[in-house]
Amino acid sequence: MTLITALAGGVGASKLLTGLTKHVKQEDLTIIVNTGDDIELNGLHVSPDLDTIIYTLAGVVDEAKGWGIQGDTFYFLEALRRFVEETWFAVGDRDLATHVFRTALLKQGKTLSEVSAAVSRAFGVGARVLPMTDDYFQTRIVTERGVVHFQEYLVKWQARDGVLGVEFVGVDLAKPAVGVLEAVQDAELVVLCPSNPVVSIGTILSINCVRDALRRSSARKVAVSPIIAGVPVRGPAGKLLAGLGLEVSAYSVAKLYADFLDVFVIDVADSAEKARIEELGVNVKVTNTVMRTLEDKVSLAKVVLES
Ligand code: GDP
Repeated sequence: MTLITALAGGVGASKLLTGLTKHVKQEDLTIIVNTGDDIELNGLHVSPDLDTIIYTLAGVVDEAKGWGIQGDTFYFLEALRRFVEETWFAVGDRDLATHVFRTALLKQGKTLSEVSAAVSRAFGVGARVLPMTDDYFQTRIVTERGVVHFQEYLVKWQARDGVLGVEFVGVDLAKPAVGVLEAVQDAELVVLCPSNPVVSIGTILSINCVRDALRRSSARKVAVSPIIAGVPVRGPAGKLLAGLGLEVSAYSVAKLYADFLDVFVIDVADSAEKARIEELGVNVKVTNTVMRTLEDKVSLAKVVLES
């Protein structure tokens, strides 16, 4: 039995986690999830990454979309259009139940950790799914249009705008959620999923003491590159890295994690980057990291476990 802690965003992470759970019991897995994308919409607290991870581990995620619940309908959203113009964030009818439940518990004074545990339990998820923080934290993107919530940038504006900067609102006061530091310290293996290095993993690393805990932990720390051959597999990671003045490459991501990372898993398409990354003091594993099929996910997870 290996105790594993994973750092995760949403879609990229959920693919690797699907693979990992074919090798290890969910009960041996703790997942620390980005909450910088959380947003209050029409009175509901939505936690996109937590839900994607929970739905994936429960086996109910809409795999084609990568988020939401498979077979969901959208009558609520259709009805909402009668009242509000801003319905750019698609909430399915079954998905809605999660947001209503979460919002009600938060209003009763429960923490996001307690809510996540309750949602996980209700979906029969065996892994421990922890929000990175129970405190207010919001990722905002600076664009020529102005400073917008990350979801607004990604979903409403389809990540079309160039990125001028990224703001983590609340970062100074946000404490790691209960269990986060312990999960990093006590793990035998810490996996940094192939998630957005700026707004998914970067947010988790920005929380007080988390980076320090990673440096100190005796766990083996293994990351999978979300950038393949100079482009993200999906999503705005390229624009975000470029917006921060960083090169869009596996090397660039390795550099962001180099102070605590043991092994960086890169794609065969990036084998030429190996030597440069190793100069950062990080070991490199080269393999196929594009996860299209279940088989891809399972074999990449095996490489991670054996790294
Ligand atoms: P989000 O919250 O939905 O943006 O999800 P994440 O932050 O977890 O994932 C986005 C990142 O995952 C992007 O930078 C993608 O390049 C990466 N990603 C998605 N699918 C894959 C894949 O199959 N392989 C690898 N290596 N990276 C992936």
